[in-house]
Amino acid sequence: MQDSERSLISGGRVFTGDPDRPWAEAVAVEANRIVFVGDAAEAEQAAGAGARRIDAQGGLVLPGFIDGHAHLVMTGAGLLKAQLRDAPDLGEIQRRIGDWAEAHPDATRVLGRGWVHAAIPGGEPTRAMLDAVVPDRPAYIESYDYHSCWANSAALAELGIDRDTPDPVGGRIVRDPDTGEATGYLLETVVTERIWPLLNRVSDEETDRHLAAALKTYAESGVTSIVEMALEESALRAMLRAAEAGQLTARVVAHAIIHRTGEAASELAQVEAATRLTQAHRGDHLRVAGIKLISDGTIDGCTAALTEPYTNGQNADPIWDSESLDRVVVAADKAGLQIAIHAIGDKAIRSALDALEHAAQVNGTSGLRHRIEHLEYADPQDIERLGKLGVTASMQPIHADPGFLSNWAAMLGEQRAEQGFAWPLYLEAGATLAFGTDSPTASHEALTNMFVAASRKSPADASIPAHRPDWALPLADAFLHGTRESARAAFLEHTTGMLRPGFAADLVILDGDPIAEGPDSLLKAKVRLTLMNGEITHSD
Ligand SMILES: [Zn+2]
Repeated sequence: MQDSERSLISGGRVFTGDPDRPWAEAVAVEANRIVFVGDAAEAEQAAGAGARRIDAQGGLVLPGFIDGHAHLVMTGAGLLKAQLRDAPDLGEIQRRIGDWAEAHPDATRVLGRGWVHAAIPGGEPTRAMLDAVVPDRPAYIESYDYHSCWANSAALAELGIDRDTPDPVGGRIVRDPDTGEATGYLLETVVTERIWPLLNRVSDEETDRHLAAALKTYAESGVTSIVEMALEESALRAMLRAAEAGQLTARVVAHAIIHRTGEAASELAQVEAATRLTQAHRGDHLRVAGIKLISDGTIDGCTAALTEPYTNGQNADPIWDSESLDRVVVAADKAGLQIAIHAIGDKAIRSALDALEHAAQVNGTSGLRHRIEHLEYADPQDIERLGKLGVTASMQPIHADPGFLSNWAAMLGEQRAEQGFAWPLYLEAGATLAFGTDSPTASHEALTNMFVAASRKSPADASIPAHRPDWALPLADAFLHGTRESARAAFLEHTTGMLRPGFAADLVILDGDPIAEGPDSLLKAKVRLTLMNGEITHSD
């Protein structure tokens, strides 16, 4: 008779992530907890004769991956849109959008995502390019980084944007230099404050479908915990419904997005609302940890704030000026909220650190493990400040895929581009380095992310020269930053991220052993099984 409460995982090498015992032969699980990690014979005993046996078949067993920065419902929604990330040129982008429109004749809007600036002539799309394939209804085509959106004429009409619409705080409506008309290329807060609310206004059933699609694809890629980095109320309600139904197959730690309105009262009111959410949702499975602020844009869109201009002469200021950032950061820190600040350019990174340092001076050191998200191009002196201030570096190896860096590098110029994604410097500075994917801005696949972390090469094309290969991490270290260190960044380090007795039974089994075979083997590796809180959420 099988004792369904107990499981024995053996037959492969076990990489535990536990500094006290990095390697083992087997893991015994009882209900949702790990009860033993060690040699095979003792694990056998610990599990007992009736245990369910899970044979790793020579594959690597490791802690479930923790996506340290992701957008769960958006990932699910994105799966249903026209997919443009790997479309190499405008013709192919138009063809795919046209195909999607034809396949969805009843959709009120045509939706696509993932275009890269390098694929558009001049890097800036226009509504005419889109009107050519979607003349009849609004089309919203999000860039790969979701910081800009490409709208056709019908979409601009739906948004009520014309030549007289002023740019909102922190956003830009690109205009034709000759006619002054909006071109259809919309950036930053135009996207987050006007387009997202419109596109996110879907039924609960649809939000549930998006969440379920994301959870399924995450389980298949071996992810057992996710840090949700732009929580909206509708997504939270969907997560609560999924948890209630026993279908939340990943642990979620969430940061509520604080929208930049330019008005102190409404910005502080959002912090108060987030505080209530953190008090109401503090479970082991679903927790609201704090807030997320978007302090600049992206290097591709020339909206990341740099201390020196881009090579094309453009630049951007941080979306939050220092006064407004200080106000919100001090209030949130005082309320005990964990703060995550999106900052990609060196100027935005410096201003984020200034605000966090200021909050520590005003409120005292909080121990709240505030975080900066992305950190693509930082001044080395500021990198040292992260360590000193105890600020987590939340970074996304997949964003360093050299296959997508040509426009990024051209905008920064060679010297600055060489200093991008400086993971080892954050480690030297003593900062916690948490890895995530920022899905859906890039693939959610944990193994692909680990490949870039350990090689700095492109998963799609190994012939593209690696970006700073000297900054690739040993693969075992990459795994730690995608598991244990991401757990630490999210205050999950006593729950998950390691295989250790007493911890949650969150683990994955791969079909090979990439630590033995080398990072290239990750490109064909498969996740054979995902166990989350003792339950099998994926097996092939
Ligand atoms: Zn993000």
